This record gives sequence, C-alpha cells and structure tokens, in this order.
Amino acid sequence: MAQKNLFTLIPKVDELLDKENIRELLTYMPRKIVVDSIREEIDLLRTCIKNKEVTEEEIIERIEVIEDLIKHRSKDKDAYKLRRVVNGTGVVIHTNLGRSLINEEIMNNIKEIAINYSNLEYDLEKGTRGSRYSHLEDIIIEITGGEAAMVVNNNAAAVLLVLSTLAKGKEVIVSRGELIEIGGSFRVPEVMEQSGASLVDVGTTNKTHLWDFENAINENTAALLKVHTSNYRILGFTSSVDSEELYQLKTKYNIPLVEDLGSGVLIDLSKYGLEYEPTVQESLKNGVDVVTFSGDKLLGGPQAGIIVGKRKYIEAMKKNPLTRAFRVDKFTISALEATLRYYLDEAVAVKQIPTLNMLTMGIEEIENKANKLLRKITDNIKDENFKVDVENNYSEVGGGSLPLEKLPTKCIVITLDNLSTQEFENNLRKYETPIITRLYKDRVYIDLRTVNEEEFSTIVNGLRFTLSKVKGVH
Ligand SMILES: *Cc1c(COP(=O)(O)O)cnc(C)c1O
Repeated sequence: MAQKNLFTLIPKVDELLDKENIRELLTYMPRKIVVDSIREEIDLLRTCIKNKEVTEEEIIERIEVIEDLIKHRSKDKDAYKLRRVVNGTGVVIHTNLGRSLINEEIMNNIKEIAINYSNLEYDLEKGTRGSRYSHLEDIIIEITGGEAAMVVNNNAAAVLLVLSTLAKGKEVIVSRGELIEIGGSFRVPEVMEQSGASLVDVGTTNKTHLWDFENAINENTAALLKVHTSNYRILGFTSSVDSEELYQLKTKYNIPLVEDLGSGVLIDLSKYGLEYEPTVQESLKNGVDVVTFSGDKLLGGPQAGIIVGKRKYIEAMKKNPLTRAFRVDKFTISALEATLRYYLDEAVAVKQIPTLNMLTMGIEEIENKANKLLRKITDNIKDENFKVDVENNYSEVGGGSLPLEKLPTKCIVITLDNLSTQEFENNLRKYETPIITRLYKDRVYIDLRTVNEEEFSTIVNGLRFTLSKVKGVH
C-alpha cells in the first residue's frame, strides 16, 4: 500500500472516543488522560509511517489493537507515580524502597491527626500557643534517659543543626576513620562545611588514639564528634576511640561530645541473634552530650532525625533559625509518637514494629511462608520453561545498618529455560504492582523475609503475567 494510503487507515480522535472500550475508560478516568493517550498513539503511528520504521503489516496490526494500546497508555498515565511495590530483595531497611514500614495502628494514629484538627502547636492546659516539639520530648527522654530531646526532618538535618548550633565558626575534631559517606550523598566533611564549622580530622584511616584528639584540642575547639561508621567496617589492625574514653577528654577540657549514631537502636539486638550495636541509651550513659539518629532505620518509624542530650544544648538548637527549616510535620510527629510508645515494652516493640519484626523473624516462620508461596505458584503456573523452588539464602539489614550481618533466610528461586531472566526481572519490575527481586547467576530470587502473605496473590499474578509476556516476545 502506498504510504499516503497508510495514513488514511489511522482512526480519528473523535472516532476512537466513541468506541465502547474507550467510553468505558472515560467513566473512571479524567478525559484529558484518555485524549492525550489517543493523540500519542496516533502520533506514534504517523511517525512510524513517515519514517518507514516498521513494515506495513506491523502498522496494520498496531491499528487493529489501537484501543488496547490506548487503554494501557491511559492506565500508565493515570497510575500514581509513587506507589507500593513488593520488596522481594530481603533488604529490610531498603532506602530506595522506602526504608521502614509502619503498621496499621500507627497509620490509624496518623489518620486521626490528618483528617482532624489537632493540638500541634497549642497548649491545651493554658489555652495558648504551644510547641510542636513538646509532644515527643517526654517519651524520648523516658526511653533514652536523656535530659531533653527534639526531632527534625531526618538525621542529616539533625547533624547539621547540632554542628551549626554548637560549632559555627569554630573547630570540630573527628577521627579520620569516621569521615564517612552514607548513600544519598550524606558526607561528614560536606555536612561539616555546610554547618559553618571547620573539620579537624585526626588519626589515620585505621587507627585513631585518644592522644590524637588531645593534641588537636585548642581554644577554638567547639566539639568532639564521633560518627557511627554505619555502612562500612575497617577490619584487622584497627583502633578507634570510644565515647567512654572521649568522656575523660571532654570533661578535662569542658568541650561537648557529640555522637552521630546513624541507626538509632533503642534495644539490644544481640538478644535476638543480631550483631551487637551500641544503643542510644548506652551512648548517653557514657556521657555523650548530644546524640543524633534516624527515625526510619533500626528504630523503625517515619523519616525523622532525633536529637537527644543535655538540656542546655537542645534548648540552643531549638532557637537556631535552621530549626524552622528542618521542622517535622504533624504526620511525622503522630507516626513517631505511636512508634516510640511500643518501646515502652521491648517485647511489644519487636512484635509490632515491622522493621524489628522482619529483622528478628525466625527461620521457621520464613520457611513456612516460602513453602506456602511455592505451593501457590506451582498450583497456578504450570509451564515447562518455568521452574521454581525454595532455597537457603541470606537477607541484609540495609539502610547502612549492620553491614556485615547476614541473616539466614529462605528464598523462592525461579529458573527460566530458554527465556531471558533479565527480561523477566525487568517485566516483574514494571508489573502494575512492581515486584522487586534479586537477580543472581541467571536466576530470580524472592526473599520471604520482606514479603508478607497478603502479597502472595500479587506475586503469583505478577509471575504469571510476566511469564506470558516474556514468552510472547520470545
Ligand atoms: C543514615 C545516616 C545518616 C543520615 O540519616 P538520614 O536520616 O538518612 O538523613 C547520618 N549519619 C549516619 C551515621 C547514618 O548512618
């Protein structure tokens, strides 16, 4: 057929809008999205014909299914950009997948605050203006044993606020071994620069001694800083100065000691078979004046940065103009308060806080889930190219917490015969509820530690859909 005639085969916008399928779309989707999708499909056809990119048969085929193409395009456009995914990676605190989850009960508390007015900045006793920081202070003090506390948007903001308040225009001493970078561009030297404090790094990468710190102290020293090395460890011939030793120095010279703990563990996780990690309480007990940590790492709450320590320093921070820029919103406050309440009883915290629950989950429970999912998959997907089994593997804590910890787990492992594993993984990721898996040695892994039973149907449907898609292309 001549090129000119091919153009005449393309349906008109109005014609398409009148089709049964498209009219149905319009009942639940904004008209603009549907019309835009029609225009885009038509433009695509025109370009293809003009550039002679595809054969005549392919053009005709595409025109035959144009209603379906429009439907898919509209649904893609109409979907939320930020949406739920299935985390099959086994990385519990996965920064790219939203770090910590909150449970239904916490969600209900957020909802109560979100859909109603609240005493966010109102003192109910006095009937006057109150402070948004007051709601969390008591419970943080109770759990950690600090004198005073405040909460900002994230831990990066917390560190910046602390340094800016205590050390602007002055010097802060840090060990070279702790000049770390955390994923997402948090770098200690850069945060220091932003705060207006100057960094004085002492010691070497693998060894720093107390006298390194002492030698660097002068009349311009405003703080001693300890940073949790979070996502890496220096092993072998090493030594670092712990906060107990620094306590002697800070007392001798009367300089505040600040510690960025990163993860913010509030309970001793070694009791649950995880690597020992210093808690916020211990840090304060060792005499650290100001401790900062994240709300959504091992604490298991919403994104937040928590600052706890000596009252005089915390009060000074509340007056820093940066506090206004870093302030937390009411959703965060309500979520964090509900999360922190669980910590009043450690057993409850471990059970109710999803992050802690997943990290301390027993292998039997994971195995049970794996076998259940395996049965569901084999019952629903019978295909000679598709093999599935349960295997031992290891999960990770993630979020830069406990980087060496390997948690024994069970995975669903998928082997594809004569099909591209890469393409399979790629399509699972683009499924309507994206399923994020791990690819290893040409097999697809779904770790059951970070997957719950309510997600099984989604996974089975996603696998089936993806398999048919990959086979169709094949
Ligand atoms: C994660 C981390 C941060 C950054 O915390 P965010 O809450 O992500 O801003 C800072 N310092 C340390 C040591 C960390 O582990």
